[in-house]
Amino acid sequence: MKTKEYSNGETTILWKPEKCIHAGICVKTLPKVYHPQEKPWITPENATSQEIIAQVAKCPSGALSIKGTQDNIKIEREDNGKKGRYVIYYNDEFAGEMTFTWAGKTQFIIDHTGVEEKFAGKGLGKKLVMKSVEYARENNVKIIPLCPFAKKVFDNTKEIQDVRS
Ligand code: SF4
Repeated sequence: MKTKEYSNGETTILWKPEKCIHAGICVKTLPKVYHPQEKPWITPENATSQEIIAQVAKCPSGALSIKGTQDNIKIEREDNGKKGRYVIYYNDEFAGEMTFTWAGKTQFIIDHTGVEEKFAGKGLGKKLVMKSVEYARENNVKIIPLCPFAKKVFDNTKEIQDVRS
């Protein structure tokens, strides 16, 4: 499905339907803008740009982004068959990483997630976890979230329990 655009005249929200995991965080954090039962389901004119930008940063799947800024976040995966890491860049600057260790061939342990202080509050740690969830689904493997941060993400996101070991 095509990416959809919703604007308040100043800021444009982009929504990628195929990425949406229907966690409903958008509806919970900004109910005046997100109405899943209505058409259009996103009405950005009901909020300020500041409110919209802060909300979009909380979308766990990356389905929501702000037009013009959607390429600012890049995640790279490294894996040597024993250990690996996900590295996140914000505007091409190193912003954090999440390390993992394989436990056999069918599951890996998330050991540690760390985001640089400068980039705190942008939801980058969660994006790292979600990237590993995407990998686990595509490759039919499971995740053991030992890292307290990753464990919290798993505990609070029921849509990703399918990949939890
Ligand atoms: S927060 Fe993101 S993933 Fe969750 S329902 Fe909204 S758009 Fe979909």
